[in-house]
Amino acid sequence: MNQFWSDFVKELKPYVPGEQPKEGEFVKLNSNESPYPPSPKAVAAMDKALAKGLELYPEAEATPVRETVAKYYGLTPDQVFVGNGSDESLAHLFNGLFRHNGKKILFPTITYSFYPVYAKLYSIPYTEVPLADDFSIDITPYLAASPDEVCGIIFANPNAPTSIALSLETIERLLKEQPNILVVVDEAYVDFGTQTAISLIQRYPNLMVIQTLSKSRSLAGIRVGFAFAQAELIQALTRVKNSFNSYPIDRVAQAGAIAAFEDEEYFNKTRHMIMASREYLIKEVRGLGFNVLPSAANFIFMSHPKLDATKIASELRERKLLVRHFKQVPIDQFLRVTIGTQENCENLVKALSEIVSKGII
Ligand SMILES: *Cc1c(COP(=O)(O)O)cnc(C)c1O
Repeated sequence: MNQFWSDFVKELKPYVPGEQPKEGEFVKLNSNESPYPPSPKAVAAMDKALAKGLELYPEAEATPVRETVAKYYGLTPDQVFVGNGSDESLAHLFNGLFRHNGKKILFPTITYSFYPVYAKLYSIPYTEVPLADDFSIDITPYLAASPDEVCGIIFANPNAPTSIALSLETIERLLKEQPNILVVVDEAYVDFGTQTAISLIQRYPNLMVIQTLSKSRSLAGIRVGFAFAQAELIQALTRVKNSFNSYPIDRVAQAGAIAAFEDEEYFNKTRHMIMASREYLIKEVRGLGFNVLPSAANFIFMSHPKLDATKIASELRERKLLVRHFKQVPIDQFLRVTIGTQENCENLVKALSEIVSKGII
């Protein structure tokens, strides 16, 4: 620690992302990135943006991006916020919409681990709500929350790292029964098998939906994420953003984001390949005795009744396969495995089959 550090910095507990090893060293099944490159049209658009215009600042509000995405979802551009990754949209929403004089927010005990990091960064009190026994989100405690004490609820759908999705009907019930609490649905994995809540935005002023280009559109490297909500909620994020950094996404990222959204064919092709490999992988690893939670995401969450998760992860690592292990009760015996290419999945099955037969004898 350095004498110039403020108390604030000393007390921060930053988020720790999945390991990013040197390229080619491991098969990365640990960060839920896409195993496929971005749309060739997005790459061409970014090349074009690189070739001309970088001496100029980008569109401050990323208006062409917001117009493209609004059209795609049947929204108006003033219902769309664009940030430097959905993490930045989340940061602005915690700062701008979850800080209400000592009121707290609720989120599941097991969910995206950036939520408690932002809550601490912005001094927002929070209560973690346990999952149901089957690891799904039980909305009963959220329905019982008092708006005098609670200003917000946030969870990922499908949830991470459990991969389990909540139905649109359940989300609507929560929105309807808690009209005075802001409900934020983080849809980082929505394109892999569940319905988006965006269709509820016109009817529910207490809903905000978060999405990203990092997973289903293979663009984790350019950092583009969105918030969708009625215009006044979006204005809150814009006010925070413009008090922080008026140009969060650059010209190259804006060009890539637009082209990626317009290339629906490539998007559908790659996400369907991932979903097909997921079904293959689930079937195979269940055959090896693993317990796999029902996944609507581009990853699976699995445990083995006889083998220790730490041991499996290190055996996989020796075979150059990286997966994610959260050493947190009650998920410390689970591994989160990103769906790679079909070939990656087949190699993973081979490795797991060796590990299981070796471990059980
Ligand atoms: C990956 C992920 C994010 C972060 O997305 P970026 O747009 O890359 O910042 C947000 N929420 C959840 C649940 C995620 O899994």
